[in-house]
Amino acid sequence: MTGLYEGLGVPVALNGVGPATRLGGLPLHPDVWAAMQESLASPVRMDVFEEAAGRRIAELLGAPAAYVTSGASAAMLLGTAAAMTGGRADLVDRLPDTTGMRRRVLIQAAHRDPYDRAVAPTGAVLETIGYPDSTHPDELDRALGDDVAAVLYRPGKPGNLLSLAATAEIAHAHDVPVIVDGAVHAPGLERLRALFTDGADLVALSGGKGFRGPQASGLLLGRADLVAAVGAQHQDMDERLTTWPPGLAAGRRTPPRHGPGRPMKVGREQIAGLLAALERYVRDPGGDEAPGIAELDETERVLREGGAEVTRHHDAALDVPSLHVRAGDGAAAVDALVLALAARPVPAYVGEAEAWRGIVTINPMALRPGDGVALGIAIVESLEHR
Ligand SMILES: *Cc1c(COP(=O)(O)O)cnc(C)c1O
Repeated sequence: MTGLYEGLGVPVALNGVGPATRLGGLPLHPDVWAAMQESLASPVRMDVFEEAAGRRIAELLGAPAAYVTSGASAAMLLGTAAAMTGGRADLVDRLPDTTGMRRRVLIQAAHRDPYDRAVAPTGAVLETIGYPDSTHPDELDRALGDDVAAVLYRPGKPGNLLSLAATAEIAHAHDVPVIVDGAVHAPGLERLRALFTDGADLVALSGGKGFRGPQASGLLLGRADLVAAVGAQHQDMDERLTTWPPGLAAGRRTPPRHGPGRPMKVGREQIAGLLAALERYVRDPGGDEAPGIAELDETERVLREGGAEVTRHHDAALDVPSLHVRAGDGAAAVDALVLALAARPVPAYVGEAEAWRGIVTINPMALRPGDGVALGIAIVESLEHR
């Protein structure tokens, strides 16, 4: 299997970051490869496959409805478009020209994140309410109106913020749906189900993070009418109206044309692989993390033996243990360590979220057998040779 990368001169990396898109995501379980491979042997009608997989996934996750996307970002974009158009063909065909449509999307300042970029291609305008450490209910209530398409909500942020339940209550009083970016909030399944109990209308999830599915997969879960509206803006519409089976794009009353989601299509291997990964996850939640965590123990041992300053933590978002390793006094020490690790013959990567205080972090999720020791040695050597 290494032949492909070796042949191109692309070094296989040691990934201590975890499910990072820039590192290709996680190594996947052979059950997931097998499902992807099986799907690739035969053609199918994609809208029919999407619909059937969506029904099965909704059942597995306990969600009202589900639609497979190419990632959480794509799910945020498609969910926003669904909230703006309701799947109406005349509106879908007009995007990103939002004339006459609900187009404002509200978000608490504390919830802002670079992934908010996903909302913009629909033509929607993101509007921040509140401040980085607090939002008042009135600030949301006052901002709502009949030109608001959705409230975007990102759970797990600290501060005196509006809870999801409070946000949903206020938004629903204005008939506005709440879209949750749950990319690092689910799994676990209880956390996911609580989002719906609290009033989320749509939840965007990553397939390639904690669910350990294909990197270019994700999910939009939630209200059946909004999920149904997604097909109309995402499915391939290279069809004639007279011979076109309604399927997932039902509700279009004009000749089908490609919607704004067409540039983020999913292949049948993404759907098949994500479905297989979710079946595994639901059977034994978190069970596939054990081998990586055993590798992390090895990294910790090698680091301690090598004299590195290391502490063990729990990554609450991804629900896995993590290591914090001191690189030095501040960000510059982290820069030096990270650059030294990346320059090695087997390049190694570690988390940089705590760089400002001189710490690099290590996540176990992408560590393969032997990676734990190798990563520990790489860090000890890089710290020594500065
Ligand atoms: C990773 C991430 C996304 C994007 O997920 P993809 O599946 O890679 O598109 C969105 N929001 C947050 C908070 C994330 O961490």
